[in-house]
Amino acid sequence: MLDVARQTGGSGSPQSPAVKDILNFIAGEYVAAKGGKRFDKSSPVTGALIARVSEAGQAEVDAAVKAARAALEGPWGRMAPAERGDMLYAVANEINKRFDDFLQAEVADTGKPVSLASHLDIPRGAANFKVFADTIKNVATEFFEMGTPDGAGAINYAVRRPIGVVGVICPWNLPLLLMTWKVAPALACGNTVVVKPSEESPQTAALLGDVMNAVGVPKGVYNVVHGFGPGSAGEFLTRHPGVNAITFTGETRTGAAIMKAAADGARPVSLEMGGKNPAIVFADCDFEAAIDGTMRSCFVNCGQVCLGTERVYVERPIFEKFVAALKARAEKLKLGAPEDAATTMGPLISQEHRDKVLSYYKKAREEGATVVTGGGVPKMPDGMAKGAWVEPTIWTGLPDTAPTVTEEIFGPCTHIAPFDAEEEVIKRANALDYGLAASVWTTNLARAHRVASRIEAGIVWVNSWFLRDLRTPFGGMKQSGIGREGGVHSLEFYTELKNVCIKL
Ligand code: NAD
Repeated sequence: MLDVARQTGGSGSPQSPAVKDILNFIAGEYVAAKGGKRFDKSSPVTGALIARVSEAGQAEVDAAVKAARAALEGPWGRMAPAERGDMLYAVANEINKRFDDFLQAEVADTGKPVSLASHLDIPRGAANFKVFADTIKNVATEFFEMGTPDGAGAINYAVRRPIGVVGVICPWNLPLLLMTWKVAPALACGNTVVVKPSEESPQTAALLGDVMNAVGVPKGVYNVVHGFGPGSAGEFLTRHPGVNAITFTGETRTGAAIMKAAADGARPVSLEMGGKNPAIVFADCDFEAAIDGTMRSCFVNCGQVCLGTERVYVERPIFEKFVAALKARAEKLKLGAPEDAATTMGPLISQEHRDKVLSYYKKAREEGATVVTGGGVPKMPDGMAKGAWVEPTIWTGLPDTAPTVTEEIFGPCTHIAPFDAEEEVIKRANALDYGLAASVWTTNLARAHRVASRIEAGIVWVNSWFLRDLRTPFGGMKQSGIGREGGVHSLEFYTELKNVCIKL
Protein backbone atom coordinates (compact mmCIF):
# COMPACT_ATOMS: atom_id res chain seq x y z
CA MET A 1 0.00 0.00 0.00
CA LEU A 2 1.39 3.41 -0.93
CA ASP A 3 1.93 6.17 1.57
CA VAL A 4 -0.59 8.98 1.12
CA ALA A 5 2.05 11.46 2.34
CA ARG A 6 4.21 10.61 -0.64
CA GLN A 7 1.22 10.56 -2.94
CA THR A 8 0.31 14.08 -1.97
CA GLY A 9 3.81 15.48 -2.24
CA GLY A 10 4.28 15.88 1.51
CA SER A 11 6.91 14.54 3.83
CA GLY A 12 4.84 13.51 6.85
CA SER A 13 5.12 14.92 10.32
CA PRO A 14 8.50 14.70 12.02
CA GLN A 15 6.79 13.67 15.28
CA SER A 16 4.88 10.75 13.85
CA PRO A 17 5.39 8.97 10.55
CA ALA A 18 1.69 8.01 10.61
CA VAL A 19 0.56 11.63 10.35
CA LYS A 20 0.02 12.55 6.70
CA ASP A 21 0.88 15.88 5.17
CA ILE A 22 -1.95 16.87 2.83
CA LEU A 23 -1.32 19.63 0.32
CA ASN A 24 -3.35 21.64 -2.16
CA PHE A 25 -3.21 20.49 -5.79
CA ILE A 26 -2.85 23.39 -8.21
CA ALA A 27 -1.85 23.25 -11.89
CA GLY A 28 -0.73 19.65 -11.50
CA GLU A 29 1.54 20.31 -8.51
CA TYR A 30 1.12 19.66 -4.79
CA VAL A 31 1.64 22.98 -3.03
CA ALA A 32 1.62 24.18 0.56
CA ALA A 33 -0.21 27.40 1.37
CA LYS A 34 1.98 30.49 1.61
CA GLY A 35 2.82 31.09 5.27
CA GLY A 36 2.42 27.37 5.98
CA LYS A 37 -1.05 27.56 7.53
CA ARG A 38 -2.35 24.08 8.41
CA PHE A 39 -5.23 22.45 10.21
CA ASP A 40 -5.41 19.12 11.98
CA LYS A 41 -7.49 16.16 10.91
CA SER A 42 -8.20 13.50 13.55
CA SER A 43 -9.33 9.91 13.25
CA PRO A 44 -13.04 9.46 14.01
CA VAL A 45 -12.17 5.98 15.27
CA THR A 46 -9.46 6.80 17.83
CA GLY A 47 -9.39 10.59 18.09
CA ALA A 48 -5.67 10.55 17.17
CA LEU A 49 -4.15 13.09 14.80
CA ILE A 50 -3.90 11.51 11.33
CA ALA A 51 -3.18 14.43 9.00
CA ARG A 52 -2.01 18.02 8.89
CA VAL A 53 -3.74 19.75 6.02
CA SER A 54 -2.46 22.83 4.22
CA GLU A 55 -5.21 25.48 4.43
CA ALA A 56 -5.53 27.39 1.18
CA GLY A 57 -5.79 31.15 1.52
CA GLN A 58 -6.96 33.69 -1.03
CA ALA A 59 -3.60 33.41 -2.86
CA GLU A 60 -3.95 29.64 -3.40
CA VAL A 61 -7.59 29.93 -4.45
CA ASP A 62 -6.58 32.67 -6.92
CA ALA A 63 -3.81 30.43 -8.26
CA ALA A 64 -6.17 27.45 -8.59
CA VAL A 65 -8.82 29.47 -10.45
CA LYS A 66 -6.13 30.96 -12.70
CA ALA A 67 -4.78 27.46 -13.48
CA ALA A 68 -8.32 26.21 -14.21
CA ARG A 69 -8.94 29.18 -16.54
CA ALA A 70 -5.68 28.59 -18.41
CA ALA A 71 -6.51 24.89 -18.82
CA LEU A 72 -9.98 25.74 -20.09
CA GLU A 73 -8.46 27.88 -22.80
CA GLY A 74 -5.96 25.11 -23.66
CA PRO A 75 -6.58 21.83 -25.48
CA TRP A 76 -9.00 20.45 -22.86
CA GLY A 77 -11.85 22.79 -23.73
CA ARG A 78 -11.46 22.06 -27.46
CA MET A 79 -10.92 18.30 -27.21
CA ALA A 80 -13.51 16.10 -28.95
CA PRO A 81 -15.96 14.67 -26.41
CA ALA A 82 -14.98 11.10 -27.29
CA GLU A 83 -11.33 11.85 -26.61
CA ARG A 84 -12.17 13.43 -23.24
CA GLY A 85 -14.37 10.41 -22.54
CA ASP A 86 -11.41 8.08 -23.18
CA MET A 87 -9.35 10.06 -20.71
CA LEU A 88 -12.06 9.77 -18.08
CA TYR A 89 -12.11 6.00 -18.62
CA ALA A 90 -8.38 6.07 -17.94
CA VAL A 91 -9.04 8.02 -14.72
CA ALA A 92 -11.55 5.36 -13.61
CA ASN A 93 -9.13 2.55 -14.42
CA GLU A 94 -6.32 4.29 -12.55
CA ILE A 95 -8.51 4.72 -9.45
CA ASN A 96 -9.23 0.99 -9.60
CA LYS A 97 -5.50 0.28 -9.96
CA ARG A 98 -4.87 2.31 -6.80
CA PHE A 99 -7.99 0.95 -5.11
CA ASP A 100 -6.19 0.14 -1.83
CA ASP A 101 -4.69 3.63 -1.54
CA PHE A 102 -8.10 5.25 -2.01
CA LEU A 103 -9.71 2.77 0.37
CA GLN A 104 -7.12 3.37 3.07
CA ALA A 105 -7.39 7.17 2.70
CA GLU A 106 -11.22 7.19 2.76
CA VAL A 107 -11.42 4.86 5.74
CA ALA A 108 -8.80 6.85 7.65
CA ASP A 109 -10.73 10.11 7.15
CA THR A 110 -14.23 8.80 7.83
CA GLY A 111 -13.81 5.70 10.04
CA LYS A 112 -16.40 3.87 7.92
CA PRO A 113 -16.12 0.08 7.74
CA VAL A 114 -13.76 -1.21 5.04
CA SER A 115 -16.57 -3.56 3.99
CA LEU A 116 -18.73 -0.52 3.14
CA ALA A 117 -16.10 1.70 1.51
CA SER A 118 -14.79 -1.16 -0.62
CA HIS A 119 -18.28 -1.92 -1.95
CA LEU A 120 -19.70 1.58 -2.24
CA ASP A 121 -17.39 4.59 -1.97
CA ILE A 122 -14.38 3.60 -4.04
CA PRO A 123 -16.10 1.58 -6.81
CA ARG A 124 -18.68 4.34 -7.29
CA GLY A 125 -15.90 6.95 -7.24
CA ALA A 126 -14.37 5.20 -10.24
CA ALA A 127 -17.69 4.33 -11.92
CA ASN A 128 -18.80 7.98 -11.98
CA PHE A 129 -16.05 8.73 -14.52
CA LYS A 130 -17.19 5.90 -16.82
CA VAL A 131 -20.87 6.82 -16.60
CA PHE A 132 -20.29 10.43 -17.62
CA ALA A 133 -17.72 9.49 -20.26
CA ASP A 134 -20.42 7.30 -21.83
CA THR A 135 -23.05 10.01 -21.45
CA ILE A 136 -20.98 12.64 -23.21
CA LYS A 137 -20.05 10.25 -26.01
CA ASN A 138 -23.67 9.41 -26.70
CA VAL A 139 -25.54 12.63 -26.17
CA ALA A 140 -27.47 13.87 -29.19
CA THR A 141 -28.04 17.50 -30.11
CA GLU A 142 -31.21 19.18 -31.36
CA PHE A 143 -31.75 19.87 -35.04
CA PHE A 144 -34.69 21.78 -36.59
CA GLU A 145 -35.45 22.69 -40.19
CA MET A 146 -37.55 25.81 -40.69
CA GLY A 147 -39.19 27.69 -43.51
CA THR A 148 -38.20 31.22 -44.56
CA PRO A 149 -40.17 33.81 -46.61
CA ASP A 150 -37.88 33.36 -49.62
CA GLY A 151 -38.55 29.62 -49.62
CA ALA A 152 -34.90 28.67 -49.17
CA GLY A 153 -35.32 27.69 -45.53
CA ALA A 154 -32.92 27.51 -42.63
CA ILE A 155 -31.58 24.93 -40.27
CA ASN A 156 -30.96 25.16 -36.54
CA TYR A 157 -28.69 23.03 -34.48
CA ALA A 158 -27.75 23.25 -30.83
CA VAL A 159 -24.27 22.64 -29.50
CA ARG A 160 -23.22 22.14 -25.91
CA ARG A 161 -20.35 24.24 -24.69
CA PRO A 162 -18.57 24.03 -21.32
CA ILE A 163 -19.81 26.52 -18.76
CA GLY A 164 -16.24 27.34 -17.70
CA VAL A 165 -14.42 27.06 -14.39
CA VAL A 166 -16.61 25.15 -11.93
CA GLY A 167 -16.25 25.49 -8.15
CA VAL A 168 -17.05 22.14 -6.49
CA ILE A 169 -17.86 22.23 -2.76
CA CYS A 170 -18.11 18.80 -1.12
CA PRO A 171 -19.31 17.18 2.12
CA TRP A 172 -17.60 14.48 4.19
CA ASN A 173 -20.12 11.65 4.32
CA LEU A 174 -19.28 9.96 0.99
CA PRO A 175 -16.22 12.02 0.08
CA LEU A 176 -14.87 10.43 -3.12
CA LEU A 177 -18.26 9.25 -4.37
CA LEU A 178 -19.97 12.65 -4.07
CA MET A 179 -16.96 14.62 -5.28
CA THR A 180 -16.56 12.55 -8.45
CA TRP A 181 -20.34 12.67 -8.97
CA LYS A 182 -19.71 16.36 -9.78
CA VAL A 183 -16.14 16.37 -11.09
CA ALA A 184 -16.77 13.58 -13.64
CA PRO A 185 -19.66 15.27 -15.50
CA ALA A 186 -17.99 18.68 -15.23
CA LEU A 187 -14.84 17.34 -16.89
CA ALA A 188 -16.79 15.22 -19.39
CA CYS A 189 -18.40 18.43 -20.62
CA GLY A 190 -15.02 20.13 -21.09
CA ASN A 191 -15.04 22.31 -17.99
CA THR A 192 -12.18 22.66 -15.53
CA VAL A 193 -12.69 22.43 -11.77
CA VAL A 194 -11.47 23.74 -8.46
CA VAL A 195 -12.58 21.35 -5.73
CA LYS A 196 -12.94 22.25 -2.06
CA PRO A 197 -13.29 18.96 -0.19
CA SER A 198 -14.70 18.94 3.30
CA GLU A 199 -12.17 19.81 5.99
CA GLU A 200 -13.12 16.44 7.51
CA SER A 201 -12.23 14.36 4.44
CA PRO A 202 -9.34 15.88 2.49
CA GLN A 203 -7.39 12.76 1.52
CA THR A 204 -9.12 11.16 -1.47
CA ALA A 205 -9.52 14.49 -3.30
CA ALA A 206 -5.77 14.97 -2.86
CA LEU A 207 -5.01 11.46 -4.15
CA LEU A 208 -7.12 12.04 -7.23
CA GLY A 209 -4.63 14.74 -8.31
CA ASP A 210 -1.98 12.08 -8.68
CA VAL A 211 -4.35 9.97 -10.77
CA MET A 212 -5.04 12.93 -13.07
CA ASN A 213 -1.30 13.45 -13.59
CA ALA A 214 -0.69 9.73 -14.13
CA VAL A 215 -3.18 9.45 -17.00
CA GLY A 216 -2.18 12.74 -18.62
CA VAL A 217 -5.15 14.98 -17.85
CA PRO A 218 -3.72 18.45 -18.70
CA LYS A 219 -2.44 20.39 -15.72
CA GLY A 220 -4.97 22.83 -14.30
CA VAL A 221 -8.03 20.82 -15.36
CA TYR A 222 -8.42 19.41 -11.83
CA ASN A 223 -7.39 21.51 -8.84
CA VAL A 224 -7.96 21.06 -5.10
CA VAL A 225 -7.91 23.68 -2.37
CA HIS A 226 -8.30 22.63 1.26
CA GLY A 227 -9.91 24.52 4.09
CA PHE A 228 -13.16 25.46 5.77
CA GLY A 229 -16.24 27.43 4.69
CA PRO A 230 -16.68 31.01 5.94
CA GLY A 231 -13.46 33.07 5.91
CA SER A 232 -11.57 30.18 4.33
CA ALA A 233 -11.14 28.32 1.05
CA GLY A 234 -14.88 27.57 0.67
CA GLU A 235 -15.91 31.20 0.80
CA PHE A 236 -12.89 32.39 -1.25
CA LEU A 237 -13.84 29.92 -3.97
CA THR A 238 -17.57 30.61 -4.10
CA ARG A 239 -16.99 34.38 -4.10
CA HIS A 240 -14.27 34.20 -6.74
CA PRO A 241 -15.26 36.18 -9.86
CA GLY A 242 -13.25 33.75 -12.01
CA VAL A 243 -15.58 30.87 -11.09
CA ASN A 244 -18.40 30.52 -13.64
CA ALA A 245 -20.64 28.03 -11.82
CA ILE A 246 -20.83 26.45 -8.39
CA THR A 247 -21.94 22.95 -7.54
CA PHE A 248 -22.46 22.09 -3.90
CA THR A 249 -23.45 19.19 -1.67
CA GLY A 250 -24.00 19.80 2.02
CA GLU A 251 -26.36 21.33 4.54
CA THR A 252 -29.29 23.46 3.47
CA ARG A 253 -28.06 26.50 5.43
CA THR A 254 -24.66 26.32 3.74
CA GLY A 255 -26.37 25.99 0.36
CA ALA A 256 -28.32 29.19 1.03
CA ALA A 257 -25.07 31.04 1.92
CA ILE A 258 -23.46 29.76 -1.28
CA MET A 259 -26.45 30.89 -3.32
CA LYS A 260 -25.99 34.39 -1.93
CA ALA A 261 -22.29 34.33 -2.88
CA ALA A 262 -23.21 33.12 -6.37
CA ALA A 263 -25.63 36.02 -6.83
CA ASP A 264 -22.60 38.29 -7.39
CA GLY A 265 -22.03 37.80 -11.08
CA ALA A 266 -25.36 35.96 -11.44
CA ARG A 267 -23.62 32.58 -11.54
CA PRO A 268 -25.59 29.33 -11.73
CA VAL A 269 -25.67 26.96 -8.75
CA SER A 270 -26.51 23.32 -8.37
CA LEU A 271 -27.39 22.50 -4.78
CA GLU A 272 -27.73 19.02 -3.25
CA MET A 273 -28.79 19.68 0.34
CA GLY A 274 -30.19 18.17 3.52
CA GLY A 275 -33.17 15.92 4.12
CA LYS A 276 -35.43 14.43 6.78
CA ASN A 277 -36.59 11.54 4.72
CA PRO A 278 -39.68 9.46 5.50
CA ALA A 279 -40.22 5.74 5.04
CA ILE A 280 -43.86 4.64 4.80
CA VAL A 281 -44.53 1.01 5.68
CA PHE A 282 -47.97 -0.38 4.83
CA ALA A 283 -49.35 -3.46 6.58
CA ASP A 284 -49.42 -5.31 3.24
CA CYS A 285 -45.64 -4.97 2.74
CA ASP A 286 -43.14 -7.77 2.47
CA PHE A 287 -42.25 -7.46 6.15
CA GLU A 288 -38.71 -8.86 6.04
CA ALA A 289 -37.82 -6.75 3.01
CA ALA A 290 -39.16 -3.64 4.75
CA ILE A 291 -37.10 -4.37 7.86
CA ASP A 292 -33.95 -5.02 5.80
CA GLY A 293 -34.40 -1.85 3.75
CA THR A 294 -35.24 0.31 6.74
CA MET A 295 -32.26 -1.01 8.70
CA ARG A 296 -29.96 0.05 5.89
CA SER A 297 -31.65 3.39 5.37
CA CYS A 298 -31.42 4.28 9.07
CA PHE A 299 -28.00 2.96 10.01
CA VAL A 300 -25.68 2.49 7.04
CA ASN A 301 -22.64 4.81 7.18
CA CYS A 302 -23.63 5.49 10.80
CA GLY A 303 -26.76 7.26 9.54
CA GLN A 304 -24.68 9.85 7.69
CA VAL A 305 -26.40 9.53 4.31
CA CYS A 306 -28.43 12.39 2.88
CA LEU A 307 -30.97 9.84 1.60
CA GLY A 308 -31.23 8.13 5.00
CA THR A 309 -34.49 7.63 6.87
CA GLU A 310 -35.00 9.54 10.11
CA ARG A 311 -38.84 9.26 10.12
CA VAL A 312 -40.58 5.90 9.76
CA TYR A 313 -44.38 5.73 9.54
CA VAL A 314 -45.79 2.22 10.04
CA GLU A 315 -49.42 1.23 9.50
CA ARG A 316 -50.92 0.51 12.92
CA PRO A 317 -51.68 -3.25 12.56
CA ILE A 318 -47.95 -4.02 12.18
CA PHE A 319 -46.55 -1.13 14.25
CA GLU A 320 -45.56 -3.08 17.40
CA LYS A 321 -44.13 -5.96 15.38
CA PHE A 322 -42.11 -3.56 13.20
CA VAL A 323 -40.66 -1.66 16.18
CA ALA A 324 -39.67 -4.92 17.88
CA ALA A 325 -38.04 -6.30 14.71
CA LEU A 326 -36.09 -3.10 13.96
CA LYS A 327 -34.96 -2.92 17.61
CA ALA A 328 -33.70 -6.52 17.47
CA ARG A 329 -31.76 -5.81 14.28
CA ALA A 330 -30.34 -2.49 15.52
CA GLU A 331 -29.07 -4.19 18.66
CA LYS A 332 -27.16 -6.65 16.48
CA LEU A 333 -25.15 -3.88 14.79
CA LYS A 334 -21.49 -4.34 15.59
CA LEU A 335 -19.57 -1.16 16.30
CA GLY A 336 -15.85 -1.55 15.81
CA ALA A 337 -12.62 -0.91 13.96
CA PRO A 338 -13.10 -0.31 10.21
CA GLU A 339 -10.79 -3.13 9.17
CA ASP A 340 -12.56 -5.72 11.34
CA ALA A 341 -14.69 -7.77 8.94
CA ALA A 342 -17.38 -8.16 11.63
CA THR A 343 -17.88 -4.37 11.97
CA THR A 344 -21.22 -3.15 10.62
CA MET A 345 -21.20 0.39 12.03
CA GLY A 346 -18.41 2.92 12.40
CA PRO A 347 -18.20 6.17 14.35
CA LEU A 348 -19.58 9.57 13.38
CA ILE A 349 -17.23 11.81 11.43
CA SER A 350 -16.00 14.02 14.30
CA GLN A 351 -16.42 14.98 17.94
CA GLU A 352 -18.20 18.14 16.81
CA HIS A 353 -20.78 16.15 14.86
CA ARG A 354 -21.09 13.70 17.77
CA ASP A 355 -21.94 16.63 20.07
CA LYS A 356 -24.71 17.61 17.65
CA VAL A 357 -26.13 14.07 17.42
CA LEU A 358 -25.93 13.61 21.20
CA SER A 359 -27.76 16.90 21.69
CA TYR A 360 -30.69 15.32 19.81
CA TYR A 361 -30.43 12.15 21.90
CA LYS A 362 -30.88 14.43 24.94
CA LYS A 363 -33.57 16.54 23.30
CA ALA A 364 -35.60 13.44 22.35
CA ARG A 365 -35.70 12.36 26.00
CA GLU A 366 -36.73 15.87 27.07
CA GLU A 367 -39.47 15.86 24.44
CA GLY A 368 -40.84 12.70 26.01
CA ALA A 369 -39.69 10.07 23.51
CA THR A 370 -39.71 6.41 24.38
CA VAL A 371 -36.14 5.24 23.79
CA VAL A 372 -36.65 1.84 22.19
CA THR A 373 -32.93 1.20 21.95
CA GLY A 374 -29.67 3.16 22.24
CA GLY A 375 -29.77 6.84 23.11
CA GLY A 376 -26.27 7.05 24.53
CA VAL A 377 -22.56 6.52 24.07
CA PRO A 378 -21.26 2.96 23.69
CA LYS A 379 -18.37 1.68 25.76
CA MET A 380 -15.56 1.08 23.29
CA PRO A 381 -12.26 -0.72 23.91
CA ASP A 382 -9.31 1.40 25.06
CA GLY A 383 -7.82 2.26 21.65
CA MET A 384 -11.18 3.56 20.40
CA ALA A 385 -12.48 5.22 23.57
CA LYS A 386 -11.70 8.70 22.22
CA GLY A 387 -13.48 8.13 18.91
CA ALA A 388 -16.77 9.75 17.85
CA TRP A 389 -18.99 6.80 18.77
CA VAL A 390 -22.72 6.88 19.47
CA GLU A 391 -25.26 4.11 19.90
CA PRO A 392 -27.71 3.27 17.12
CA THR A 393 -30.98 4.69 18.41
CA ILE A 394 -34.70 4.21 17.85
CA TRP A 395 -37.43 6.36 19.36
CA THR A 396 -41.21 6.19 19.39
CA GLY A 397 -43.91 8.33 20.97
CA LEU A 398 -43.04 11.82 19.72
CA PRO A 399 -45.51 14.17 18.00
CA ASP A 400 -44.75 15.02 14.36
CA THR A 401 -43.87 18.57 15.45
CA ALA A 402 -41.03 17.60 17.83
CA PRO A 403 -37.64 18.92 16.64
CA THR A 404 -36.27 15.36 16.76
CA VAL A 405 -38.85 14.47 14.09
CA THR A 406 -38.57 17.66 12.01
CA GLU A 407 -34.84 18.51 12.00
CA GLU A 408 -32.06 16.67 10.16
CA ILE A 409 -29.84 14.93 12.73
CA PHE A 410 -27.55 13.00 10.33
CA GLY A 411 -26.82 10.21 12.79
CA PRO A 412 -27.72 6.53 13.34
CA CYS A 413 -31.17 7.27 14.71
CA THR A 414 -34.78 7.23 13.67
CA HIS A 415 -38.26 7.86 15.04
CA ILE A 416 -41.08 5.38 14.33
CA ALA A 417 -44.72 6.48 14.45
CA PRO A 418 -47.95 4.61 13.67
CA PHE A 419 -50.49 5.74 11.04
CA ASP A 420 -54.03 4.68 10.14
CA ALA A 421 -54.78 5.87 6.61
CA GLU A 422 -53.04 6.46 3.30
CA GLU A 423 -54.25 10.05 2.97
CA GLU A 424 -53.11 10.84 6.51
CA VAL A 425 -49.59 9.44 6.06
CA ILE A 426 -49.06 11.29 2.77
CA LYS A 427 -49.86 14.56 4.53
CA ARG A 428 -47.54 13.75 7.43
CA ALA A 429 -44.71 12.70 5.12
CA ASN A 430 -45.07 15.94 3.14
CA ALA A 431 -45.35 18.23 6.16
CA LEU A 432 -41.69 19.33 6.28
CA ASP A 433 -39.73 21.83 4.19
CA TYR A 434 -37.35 19.08 3.09
CA GLY A 435 -38.03 16.89 0.04
CA LEU A 436 -35.03 14.76 -0.86
CA ALA A 437 -36.05 11.08 -0.75
CA ALA A 438 -38.72 8.69 0.50
CA SER A 439 -39.31 4.94 0.67
CA VAL A 440 -42.69 3.27 0.34
CA TRP A 441 -43.16 -0.37 1.35
CA THR A 442 -46.28 -2.07 -0.03
CA THR A 443 -47.23 -4.98 -2.27
CA ASN A 444 -50.31 -3.12 -3.58
CA LEU A 445 -49.28 -1.86 -7.02
CA ALA A 446 -51.96 0.78 -7.37
CA ARG A 447 -51.19 2.16 -3.92
CA ALA A 448 -47.45 2.22 -4.73
CA HIS A 449 -48.09 4.43 -7.78
CA ARG A 450 -50.63 6.59 -5.97
CA VAL A 451 -48.42 7.31 -2.99
CA ALA A 452 -45.19 7.70 -5.02
CA SER A 453 -46.79 10.32 -7.23
CA ARG A 454 -47.97 12.39 -4.27
CA ILE A 455 -44.86 12.31 -2.07
CA GLU A 456 -42.99 15.60 -2.29
CA ALA A 457 -39.48 14.26 -2.80
CA GLY A 458 -37.02 14.20 -5.68
CA ILE A 459 -36.52 10.44 -5.33
CA VAL A 460 -39.12 7.88 -4.24
CA TRP A 461 -38.15 4.25 -3.79
CA VAL A 462 -40.83 1.59 -3.73
CA ASN A 463 -39.83 -1.61 -1.93
CA SER A 464 -36.18 -0.59 -1.93
CA TRP A 465 -33.77 2.08 -0.79
CA PHE A 466 -30.65 3.59 -2.39
CA LEU A 467 -31.14 1.57 -5.57
CA ARG A 468 -29.39 3.85 -8.01
CA ASP A 469 -29.13 3.92 -11.79
CA LEU A 470 -26.69 6.75 -12.40
CA ARG A 471 -28.54 7.87 -15.54
CA THR A 472 -31.64 8.84 -13.56
CA PRO A 473 -32.36 12.36 -12.23
CA PHE A 474 -31.05 12.89 -8.70
CA GLY A 475 -31.86 15.86 -6.49
CA GLY A 476 -34.20 17.29 -3.93
CA MET A 477 -37.44 19.25 -3.90
CA LYS A 478 -38.22 22.12 -1.54
CA GLN A 479 -35.24 22.94 0.69
CA SER A 480 -33.40 19.76 -0.21
CA GLY A 481 -32.02 20.99 -3.48
CA ILE A 482 -31.98 23.02 -6.62
CA GLY A 483 -31.38 21.28 -9.92
CA ARG A 484 -30.97 17.64 -10.88
CA GLU A 485 -27.79 15.67 -11.47
CA GLY A 486 -27.26 12.26 -13.10
CA GLY A 487 -26.98 11.20 -16.75
CA VAL A 488 -28.04 13.89 -19.18
CA HIS A 489 -29.43 15.98 -16.30
CA SER A 490 -25.88 16.75 -15.19
CA LEU A 491 -25.13 17.99 -18.70
CA GLU A 492 -27.86 20.61 -18.31
CA PHE A 493 -25.88 22.19 -15.50
CA TYR A 494 -22.34 21.69 -16.74
CA THR A 495 -22.92 22.99 -20.28
CA GLU A 496 -24.37 26.01 -22.01
CA LEU A 497 -26.58 25.17 -24.97
CA LYS A 498 -25.95 27.35 -27.97
CA ASN A 499 -28.27 27.43 -31.00
CA VAL A 500 -26.74 28.02 -34.42
CA CYS A 501 -29.22 29.11 -37.12
CA ILE A 502 -28.05 28.86 -40.73
CA LYS A 503 -29.99 30.47 -43.55
CA LEU A 504 -29.80 28.23 -46.59
P1 NAD B 1 -21.74 21.43 5.29
O1 NAD B 1 -22.78 22.24 4.62
O2 NAD B 1 -21.38 21.75 6.68
O3 NAD B 1 -20.37 21.50 4.47
C1 NAD B 1 -20.30 21.13 3.10
C2 NAD B 1 -19.13 21.84 2.47
O4 NAD B 1 -19.39 23.25 2.42
C3 NAD B 1 -17.80 21.69 3.23
O5 NAD B 1 -16.77 21.50 2.28
C4 NAD B 1 -17.68 23.02 3.94
O6 NAD B 1 -16.34 23.38 4.24
C5 NAD B 1 -18.28 23.96 2.91
N1 NAD B 1 -18.79 25.23 3.43
C6 NAD B 1 -19.36 25.48 4.63
N2 NAD B 1 -19.76 26.77 4.70
C7 NAD B 1 -19.43 27.35 3.52
C8 NAD B 1 -19.58 28.67 2.98
N3 NAD B 1 -20.16 29.65 3.67
N4 NAD B 1 -19.10 28.89 1.74
C9 NAD B 1 -18.53 27.91 1.01
N5 NAD B 1 -18.36 26.65 1.48
C10 NAD B 1 -18.81 26.37 2.70
O7 NAD B 1 -22.22 19.92 5.14
P2 NAD B 1 -21.51 18.62 5.74
O8 NAD B 1 -21.67 18.64 7.22
O9 NAD B 1 -20.15 18.49 5.15
O10 NAD B 1 -22.41 17.45 5.11
C11 NAD B 1 -23.60 17.00 5.69
C12 NAD B 1 -24.80 17.63 5.00
O11 NAD B 1 -24.74 17.36 3.62
C13 NAD B 1 -26.13 17.08 5.46
O12 NAD B 1 -27.04 18.13 5.60
C14 NAD B 1 -26.56 16.16 4.32
O13 NAD B 1 -27.94 15.95 4.19
C15 NAD B 1 -26.02 16.92 3.15
N6 NAD B 1 -25.84 16.03 2.01
C16 NAD B 1 -26.72 16.15 0.96
C17 NAD B 1 -26.58 15.29 -0.14
C18 NAD B 1 -27.52 15.37 -1.31
O14 NAD B 1 -27.23 14.78 -2.33
N7 NAD B 1 -28.62 16.09 -1.21
C19 NAD B 1 -25.57 14.33 -0.14
C20 NAD B 1 -24.70 14.24 0.96
C21 NAD B 1 -24.85 15.11 2.03
